[in-house]
Amino acid sequence: IAAKNHIMGSESETPETALARTILVVEDEKEIQDLLAHYLRKEGFYPILASDGETAILKARKEKPDLILLDILLPKADGLEVLRAIRSDESISRTPVVMLTAKGDETDRVVGLELGADDYIPKPFSPREVVARIKAILRRSRPGAREPEPATLTYRELRMDVARHEVRCQGKPVALTSKEFRILQALLSSSGRVLSRDAILSKVWGEDTHVIDRTVDVHIAKLRQKIPFLVKAIETVKDVGYKLRES
Ligand code: CA
Repeated sequence: IAAKNHIMGSESETPETALARTILVVEDEKEIQDLLAHYLRKEGFYPILASDGETAILKARKEKPDLILLDILLPKADGLEVLRAIRSDESISRTPVVMLTAKGDETDRVVGLELGADDYIPKPFSPREVVARIKAILRRSRPGAREPEPATLTYRELRMDVARHEVRCQGKPVALTSKEFRILQALLSSSGRVLSRDAILSKVWGEDTHVIDRTVDVHIAKLRQKIPFLVKAIETVKDVGYKLRES
């Protein structure tokens, strides 16, 4: 606690320090960093700050934060390098990471999601939105959420019995091919989160590298055809992949 107070300075407004979830805020622009830290404290989180990539990696290893908010453009090591370092360090590799990306920068976003970022927020952002996303991600990654796959996945009127390989929509069975089933399973298990085409390919096709991105699109189209409400529920994220809207 002493060390944490030292990092935070003399601020005394942090509620429930002992229970607060720790968020590592990696941002080199002081104003944005302060703004984020302020909102996070207000919501009962415990922000730890880093202003460059190297410090971010060190603090991530040392403090083991509950979530990392990661800017892309940073001195020393950029956000993508930080993300790569985090994902390849077993002690912290499962830490949720939310990237802060420059508006319209598709490349960073795509690379980030491929490297395993959990979400991205384009700049400029509203701190409220950032906090809301953080809460949503932490809800999903609570201990227990990582337990073995549930036997049944539900989403609105859809019910998937994983063991029996059955899908029902409003109680009526839907005939899916095994690939369609697994794509739907991947979407249902990561509702609200963007799944890149690559992520879907590796989840469903594994190491079979002969499959191309376009295949995913074809299967998604079939799913939407067979289960009409998925036309809207599965959101196409341009140049990246797909996302099942939170129910
Ligand atoms: Ca920056």
